[in-house]
Amino acid sequence: MKTIFNYIDGKLVKPKKANYIDVFNPSRGKVYAKCPESSSSDLTLAIKSSKKALNSWKELSNEKRSKILFNIANEIEKKHKEFAIAETIDNGKPLNDSRSIDVPRAINNLRFYASAVINDSSESHSLPNNVINYTLRDPLGIVACISPWNYPLHLLTWKIAPALAIGNCVIAKPSEVTPMTAYLFSKVCIKVGLPKGVLNIVHGSGGNIGQEIVEHPDIKAVSFTGGTKTGKIISKTASSLLKKVSLELGGKNPIIVFDDCNYEEMLKTTIKSSFGNQGQICLCGERIFIQDSIYTKFKKDFVKEAKKLKIGDPLKSTTNQGSIVSKAHYHKILSYFNAVKDSGAKFIIGGRSKKVRGDCSDGWFIEPSIVEDLSRKTKCYKEEAFGPVVSLHKFKTRDEVIQLANETNYGLSASIWTSNLKTAHKVAQMIDFGIVWVNTWNLRDLRTPFGGMKDSGLGREGGKESIRFFSEPKNVCINYS
Ligand code: NAD
Repeated sequence: MKTIFNYIDGKLVKPKKANYIDVFNPSRGKVYAKCPESSSSDLTLAIKSSKKALNSWKELSNEKRSKILFNIANEIEKKHKEFAIAETIDNGKPLNDSRSIDVPRAINNLRFYASAVINDSSESHSLPNNVINYTLRDPLGIVACISPWNYPLHLLTWKIAPALAIGNCVIAKPSEVTPMTAYLFSKVCIKVGLPKGVLNIVHGSGGNIGQEIVEHPDIKAVSFTGGTKTGKIISKTASSLLKKVSLELGGKNPIIVFDDCNYEEMLKTTIKSSFGNQGQICLCGERIFIQDSIYTKFKKDFVKEAKKLKIGDPLKSTTNQGSIVSKAHYHKILSYFNAVKDSGAKFIIGGRSKKVRGDCSDGWFIEPSIVEDLSRKTKCYKEEAFGPVVSLHKFKTRDEVIQLANETNYGLSASIWTSNLKTAHKVAQMIDFGIVWVNTWNLRDLRTPFGGMKDSGLGREGGKESIRFFSEPKNVCINYS
C-alpha cells in the first residue's frame, strides 16, 4: 500500500488529523494507495507557508522563476516512464496514452509558461503634453488551482505553471480520485529546489478541503477545472467573496460531418474524438451529426472501426481502451445507458460493461458504445455522459445542423468536417462554442484561448489568457512635463 503525503512548506507531510481516502487502481478494482483527507489545520499551515514565501517569490526576476519551471519540466522528462506508469495505474488510461499525451503535455505546459513569462510585454499609452501611461501586471498573491481526474498531471500543470511563472504562490488541490502524479510532482519540486511555500499541494475531497480552499480569505483567485455542477457551487462561493474565478467545465460537443469532407481522415479522427481516454475528455464529441447522403456509409464504417478497439489491461501496449476511472463513474455511465434504453433509443454496439480476464477481472471496463435514434428531448441527448458513448444524428442542410449543434446548454468545443471553405467559416461563425476545429480535433496550440461558453465555463485559459487571469493590471500615469 502506497501512502501519499501533502506537500506543505517544502516538505512531504502527513495530514494533521491522520485521515485518509482510499485510492483505487480502477483497472484492477482494488485499493492500492491512501491519500490525505486534509482538514483546515493542514490548510492553515499551507497558507502560512505561502504567505511567508510570497514576497521573495514575487520579487524574483521572471528569468529566475522561469529557470525553476524549466528545471521541473526537465526532471519530469527524466522520470517520464515513472510518471506515465503512475498515471495509468491511478487513472486506468492506456499506458501508450500516458506516455504520448499526459506526460509530454505536462512537460510542455511547464516549458510553455516558463518561456512565455520571459517573452511577455506590457502595454503603454501616451497622451499629448508629456504624459504616458504604462500598465504593470502584478501577481495576485496566493491562488487556488483545483483540477480533475481525467488528465491529472496535465491539467494540474496547465494551471500551476502560469500561476507560478508570474509570481503567485499556489495552493493546489488535485482530484482525490487520481492524486498520485501530483504527489510525484511534489517530490520533483523538492528535488529541483522550488523555494518552500511557493507551491503547496493539499490533498483531499472536494466538498471538504476543496470548499475550504475556495472560501479561505487569503486565497485571491480560484482556477477550477471539473464538472459544471461543481463549477456553479464554486462560482457562487467565490462571487460572494469577490474572488476572481476561472471555470473550465463540462461539454456536450458536436462533431459535424458534411458529405464533402476528407472521409478517411474524418473517420480516423472521429474514432479518437469519441472514444479517446475512454470518452473521458471534456472535448470528446458525444453528438455526431452526419449529412444524410453519407449517413448509412458512415454508420457502417464507424461501427467497424469502433469494433477494432482493443479493451483491456491499460499497462499492455496493445490496449486502446483502458478502464473507467472509478466505480462511481462506471455506475454513472451505466445508468446513463439505462436511461438511453428506457428512452427507446437503441445501441448499435456496446451499451454495456465489459469483463476483462486475468489481472483486470475486477476492473471497471465499458465497451465503446454507439446510439441511434436518440430523441433530442431526452436528458441523455442533453447531458454530458463523459464515457465511451456517442449518438448519431442525420441532418440535411447547413442551417439545420447549426441549429442542432447549438441545441445544448453547453458550449465547449465543436469539430466541423468539410472541404468547402464557405461552409466551414459560416458554421464556425454561427455555432456557440469556445473552441472550433475544422477538419481536425483536439489539435492544441498553447497560445490560443481555451475554454467554453454557456454551461461549459467562464473565462479562458492558455497563452496570454492565463497570464492575465493570474495577474492584476496596475496602471501608472506619469506627467513628465
Ligand atoms: P468534479 O467537479 O467532481 O471535481 C473536480 C475537482 O474539484 C476535484 O479536485 C474535486 O475534488 C474538486 N471539488 C469538488 N467539489 C468541490 C467544491 N465544492 N469546492 C472545491 N473543489 C471541489 O469533476 P471531475 O469528476 O473530477 O471531472 C470531470 C468533469 O471535468 C467533466 O464534467 C469534464 O467535462 C470536466 N472537465 C473539463 C475540462 C475543461 O477544460 N473544460 C477539462 C477536463 C475535465
